[in-house]
Amino acid sequence: MAEFKLADRLAAVPPYLFAQIDKVKAEVAARGVDIISLGIGDPDTPTPQFVLDAMRTALDDAANHQYPSYVGMKEYRTAVSDWYKTRFDVDLDADNEVVSLIGSKEGIAHFPLAFVNPGDLVLVCTPNYPVYGIATEFAGGTVQYVPLLEDNSFLPDLDAIDEATWEKAKAIFINYPNNPTAATADESFYRKLIDIAKAHNVIIVADAAYTEIYYDDANKPLSILEVEGGKDVAIEFNSLSKPYNMTGWRVGMACGNEQLVRGLGKIKENVDSGIFQAVQLAGIAALRDGEPFVAGLRDMYKGRRDLVVNALQKAGIKCNIPDATFYVWSHVPDGYTSSEFVTKVLEETGVVLTPGNGFGAPGEGYFRISLTVNDERLEEAVSRIQKL
Ligand SMILES: *Cc1c(COP(=O)(O)O)cnc(C)c1O
Repeated sequence: MAEFKLADRLAAVPPYLFAQIDKVKAEVAARGVDIISLGIGDPDTPTPQFVLDAMRTALDDAANHQYPSYVGMKEYRTAVSDWYKTRFDVDLDADNEVVSLIGSKEGIAHFPLAFVNPGDLVLVCTPNYPVYGIATEFAGGTVQYVPLLEDNSFLPDLDAIDEATWEKAKAIFINYPNNPTAATADESFYRKLIDIAKAHNVIIVADAAYTEIYYDDANKPLSILEVEGGKDVAIEFNSLSKPYNMTGWRVGMACGNEQLVRGLGKIKENVDSGIFQAVQLAGIAALRDGEPFVAGLRDMYKGRRDLVVNALQKAGIKCNIPDATFYVWSHVPDGYTSSEFVTKVLEETGVVLTPGNGFGAPGEGYFRISLTVNDERLEEAVSRIQKL
């Protein structure tokens, strides 16, 4: 038998931190326990009907069956640009400052290939979506993790990063509203980060996947591109996945600095051939006409959020009330590590939570609840936790 050794870059991927939880979950399920998973952040309600209709119509047009353009249809990029104007009052040139993505994960994963050379230093705020660090390492970059601590509202302490590090850094990954901590960033934070990035020639890679999942209409999450100077140094990744329940469709966008967008486009030109045009046309419908749908979605998640937060508080579990995202980031009770607590809850109640340390070391002492299950199951889950 031939033996095929994995490339070093794959061998270096950290072990899957939720493997232990999956094992316990299988054991508990085998006992016949009704499992309720609050683990995965994937919308449970369907894509809106008008988006399905746009897709059906687009399917019947044979012109959509051919290779799409790798940067995205002009109409799609224009719909993104119009949406950014309406939502954030940001002007984007659809030809040079927008590129379509096969989901934002695809773009985030490819971005370092365009700008990170082997040995380049990249700062990654953590706890975090794992793709930032892994994609950097695939490109040969060196990751330095920057902790997001509750004392600093889960923002990176920019003053704690020394000048020499800023000088060496090629890029910094940030994500607000944040998964998993549910924190948001204000304008003063973005201003300060933009100033530093300009002074040291650092790329800001902003993952904005949750800007539309918010709970306070008077205090909507910002795009870094609406902050003065943002477009000089930042590329922002956004996605139709969360606001329009389109995680399975794989449609997103990267916007912002022209050089950064063009660089990413150059990688994509060589590795993929864009998004199925029928999906782009469905995406255009979502971006143009989706706001009433998203407003309803926010109400739904808000009800779930309040249900969970109240139940946790009654159970004596300390949690932050999220202003955005569909996650609740909560402290584990005293005397437990994240893994111990999540394992105990799973073994004794069948409820799956995500241990905070799975997102990076500063997540130790926390667990994450995802609000992407219906009220009835959510109530059942929290009542089981309360009894425990
Ligand atoms: C869900 C999510 C995304 C979006 O992923 P898609 O590939 O667009 O579906 C990006 N970043 C974070 C942090 C997420 O949680």
